[in-house]
Amino acid sequence: MRFKQKLPVTYLLFTFNGRLSKGAYWLASLFYWFTFYVLFNALWFGIGPKSTFIIYPLLFWAIMATSVKRLHDTGKSGYWLLVVLVPVIGPLWLIYHLGFRTGNYTSNKYGRVPGTAPDYHKNDEGKEIPHLKTEERIIDDVTKLNPVLVDKVIRPKSIQELCELVNSTKGAISIGGGRFSMGGHTASPHTTHIDMRGLNQVLAFSKEEKLIKVQAGIRWCDIQRYIDPYDLSVKIKQTYANFTVGGALSVNAHGRYMGSGPVVLSVRTIDVVLADGSLIHASLTENKEIFFGTIGGYNALGIIVQAELELTDNVAVKRVHQKMKVEDYKQYFFDHIRNNPKAVFHNGDIYPPQYKRVRAVTWEETDEKPTVKTRLMPLKESYPVERYFLWAFTERPLGKPYREFVIDPLLYRGKKIHWRNYEAGYDVAELEPKSRTNSTYVLLEYFVPVQRFEEFETAMAEIFIRHNVNVLNVSIRHAKADPGTYLAWAREEVFAFVVYYKQRTDAASKNKVAVWTRELADAVIAVNGTYYLPYQVHPTAEQFHKAYPNAYKLFELKAKLDPDYKFRNVLWDTYYQPILKETYA
Ligand SMILES: Cc1cc2nc3c(=O)[nH]c(=O)nc-3n(C[C@H](O)[C@H](O)[C@H](O)COP(=O)(O)OP(=O)(O)OC[C@H]3O[C@@H](n4cnc5c(N)ncnc54)[C@H](O)[C@@H]3O)c2cc1C
Repeated sequence: MRFKQKLPVTYLLFTFNGRLSKGAYWLASLFYWFTFYVLFNALWFGIGPKSTFIIYPLLFWAIMATSVKRLHDTGKSGYWLLVVLVPVIGPLWLIYHLGFRTGNYTSNKYGRVPGTAPDYHKNDEGKEIPHLKTEERIIDDVTKLNPVLVDKVIRPKSIQELCELVNSTKGAISIGGGRFSMGGHTASPHTTHIDMRGLNQVLAFSKEEKLIKVQAGIRWCDIQRYIDPYDLSVKIKQTYANFTVGGALSVNAHGRYMGSGPVVLSVRTIDVVLADGSLIHASLTENKEIFFGTIGGYNALGIIVQAELELTDNVAVKRVHQKMKVEDYKQYFFDHIRNNPKAVFHNGDIYPPQYKRVRAVTWEETDEKPTVKTRLMPLKESYPVERYFLWAFTERPLGKPYREFVIDPLLYRGKKIHWRNYEAGYDVAELEPKSRTNSTYVLLEYFVPVQRFEEFETAMAEIFIRHNVNVLNVSIRHAKADPGTYLAWAREEVFAFVVYYKQRTDAASKNKVAVWTRELADAVIAVNGTYYLPYQVHPTAEQFHKAYPNAYKLFELKAKLDPDYKFRNVLWDTYYQPILKETYA
C-alpha cells in the first residue's frame, strides 16, 4: 500500500506532492494550528522553552507542504511561495491564492483534481484461486452472482494475435469485455477466456464525416475523451460509460437517447473473428447475416474486433422534468417528447413501492451556458453519499417514500445544463455498494410495444408488490425499431422498462428471484414484448423462444459457422447447448 493510503494525514501535512483543494487547505490549516496550540502548551508544561525547537519546525514544515500543494492546485509551482518576500502585495497575493482561489477544474502537471479517481470503475482480470498454482481463474460479473471457473485468461494485444489464438485453441472459448452483463454471459466452465480490454485503440477518425473506427475492447469513456475536443459525441450508448464497444454491440445496447434505439442503428461496419480464426468484414450490405447475427448475438457467431461508429454533435443540454401519474405518462410522452427535435435524452422514473407516479426527465438541446465547469463528468475517488442513499432507499423503513418526497425534490431543484458528453459519462462506481457478499444490486429490462404501455406497467407493478421485490427504480426509455438483428428486442417501436433492484445472495433468495422473473417474462410476452438478455438466465427455454422468435435462425448460423460450439457462455450453455445434439448434429 502506498504511503498516501497508509498515513494520509502525514502525507497531507509533510509531503510536497500533489494538489490540495481550497476546502481541504482550510481544514488542514485549522487542524495543524489547533494541534500546534495543544502540543505547544503540553510540551511547554513538561520541558519549558525547549519545546519551541521541537514544535516550530514541524509547524513550519506543515505550512510549507500544504501551501505548496495548494499552489499546485491552481497550476503554480511551490517557488511562488517566495512572493511573500515582496512587501505588502506579496503576502496579499499569497493569501488570495492559498485561501480563496479555486483550483484548476481538470488535471494539471501536478496531478488530477483532488478527490477525483484516475479512471472509471473496472472489473478484475479474473480471480486467482487461493493456494492453487494453475492458470485457472474465476470469472465473475459485476453482481458477483455468477462465478465461473475458466482454464485460463488471455488478453490479446493485436487482432492478429487474437486470430491466431482462436485458430489454435482446440477447446472452447469465452469472451469478456467490461464484464458488466449480469448472468455469466462472459464465461463458461473450462473455457479459455479472452479478455478483450487489451484491444482498445482508436484506428481511424473523421471529424468531417463524424465517424470513428475503434478496436472492440475500447470503452465508451475512452472514445468520449478522444472525440470531446472535436465537439463530437457518441450517437448511442448506455447511460454509463464503463462498457466496452464490443460488449455493447454484442448485447445491442440502448440508452436514454431520443429518436434512436438499439446501438446497431449507429454501427456502419464491424470486423468479426470467426471460430476458425478467419477475419470477416460485415455491414448492412456486406455479409449482412453476420452483421445481424453478431450485433446483439452475445458472441454466438464470432468476436467483434473492430467497429466503425457514427458520431453526432456534442451539444449543451438543459434538464426539464415533471412528475405525473403513471397513467398520464404515455400521452405526455407522445405530446411533448416523441417528436420534440430538441429532446436529446429522456427517461421516466417510476417510483416504487406503489408504481403510481413517474418523474419524466428530459435533457433538451439549449444555447444556454452549461452550469457545470467541466465538459466531461469528473470521476470521484469514492461515492459515500450515493452509497448511503442506495442503502437507505433499499434498507430503511420508509426508504422509498423518503426518496420520492424528500431527496428527489431536492435533487431536482434548480437549473442544470450539461454537455451531452457530460451527461453520457456516468461511472458505474457510483452504484457500487460496500460489499456484494450478502446482497447485491441487479438489473432487468422489459421492452413493450408503445401502445401496450399501461397493460405491462400494471402487470409489472402487481408482480413486484405481490413478491415484495426490493425495487430501487424503474426507468422508462424509448426506442425505435431494430433494423433486423436476429435477437432484436425492439421488433417495433418500444418503451423499455429498466428495473434496478436489490436481492439477497443466498440460495433461497435466488430461487425467489427466478420465480418472479419468470412471471415478468410471461407478462411481457403477453403484450408481444421482450425481456433483455444480458441479465440472469432465469427465463425458461420456452419463454426465450417466444421472446426471441428468430433465435433459431441465429442458432442455424451458429451451427454452420461454429460447428464445434467453440464460442460459448452461460447464455448459450442454457439455451443452445441442450438442443445442439438433437437439432444440429
Ligand atoms: C449499471 C449498469 C447499467 C446498465 N445500463 C444499461 C443501459 O442503459 N442500456 C443497456 O442497453 N444496457 C445496460 N446495461 C447492460 C450492459 O449494456 C451490458 O451488460 C453490456 O454488455 C456491458 O458491456 P461490457 O463491455 O461489460 O460487456 P460484457 O459483459 O463483457 O459482455 C457482454 C456480452 O458480450 C460478449 N462480448 C463482449 N465483447 C465482445 C466482443 N468484442 N465480441 C463479441 N462478443 C463480445 C460477451 O461474451 C457477453 O456475452 C447496464 C449494465 C450495468 C451493470
